[in-house]
Amino acid sequence: MYTFVDRGDRSLTLRPEATAPVVRAFIEHNLGAGSLPVKLYYFANMFRYERPQAGRYREFWQLGVEALGSAEPAIDAEAIALAMEYLSSIGIDGATLKIGSMGDENCRPAYMETLRAALAGKAENLCEDCRQRLALNPLRVFDCKNPACRAALAEAPKMIDNLCGDCRAHFDAVGALLGQIGIDFEIDPMLVRGFDYYTSTTFEIQSANLGAQNALGGGGRYDRLVADYGGKPTPAVGFAFGIERLIMALPAAGAHNAEAVQSTDVFIAVIDDKDRPLAFKTAVEMRRLGLTVEIDYMGRSLRSQMKLADKLQAVSVVVFGPDELARGKVTVRNLASGEEKTTGLKNLLASASKGFK
Ligand code: AMP
Repeated sequence: MYTFVDRGDRSLTLRPEATAPVVRAFIEHNLGAGSLPVKLYYFANMFRYERPQAGRYREFWQLGVEALGSAEPAIDAEAIALAMEYLSSIGIDGATLKIGSMGDENCRPAYMETLRAALAGKAENLCEDCRQRLALNPLRVFDCKNPACRAALAEAPKMIDNLCGDCRAHFDAVGALLGQIGIDFEIDPMLVRGFDYYTSTTFEIQSANLGAQNALGGGGRYDRLVADYGGKPTPAVGFAFGIERLIMALPAAGAHNAEAVQSTDVFIAVIDDKDRPLAFKTAVEMRRLGLTVEIDYMGRSLRSQMKLADKLQAVSVVVFGPDELARGKVTVRNLASGEEKTTGLKNLLASASKGFK
């Protein structure tokens, strides 16, 4: 935790993650009263007092998604599919999905005792921190990157092999649904997430291009958290991506998915300076119709404006030329086909909203 004492001698802790704040907001604003599940997202900065290194910062950004109100395995699969499809939509391919289960209040307590007993036998191999974790919460040992602790864990019994019937059935159902929609995954028995509130499904998405800090994002179920915060018991699932890691994993600039780049619908080119106010007004009106419109503000020549339109991948260029304007008309050029036609100024907005067809 990033905790410090401020000038008023108060101990302050900066927000380390946003699932708990989302849950608090869910309860405070009674969001569970409407139809369920409630689907929320956030984009926010987080703070953790960790040793800074490549991909691990004390301030970083997360994009997170939470769905509260359903225990159905299908919503776990939906959240995972959303995460995977988001990655491909921004041009990150080849990420690996790992899934696991943390069990629930029926099977986890017994498993924790089994794990504690197994690790206690190897306590002398564990790092100082893990020896303490052993007493408090042996699952926390799974967060440790120390090779000796990893080795001790590798031989220890795993939660995934000690699930109760309900947790096993839920886990298998999530896997079957992912299979049905063609999302590949690996089952990772070591995937036990650090926050205490996770139950049942956990998942992590990793990239091979990130080095030691290879997690792009992760998440899972937290079926008890709403009740723990004093709300009505509400099962929930969510995940968060680390924005800096996504940026690191993006292919080098220029090679990214062209479809992800918002292209310009219309570029308005102006020949005579006196027509700029009219062109400006038209641009604003077209934007109000929902079109992406660009216009020159640098006094460029027509030639340079056409070059710019090309660079912006404009679909159409509307040329405000003095001769046509004198007759109440403008020229519309489709940049892909090179086709040109004239349109009356009066019909311009209606025609633009139909893509000048
Ligand atoms: P977590 O909330 O720990 O499950 O983290 C979700 C994601 O946030 C991770 O998979 C990382 O991509 C990112 N993340 C977590 N901690 C950091 C950090 N200190 N610096 C940068 N990114 C982080």
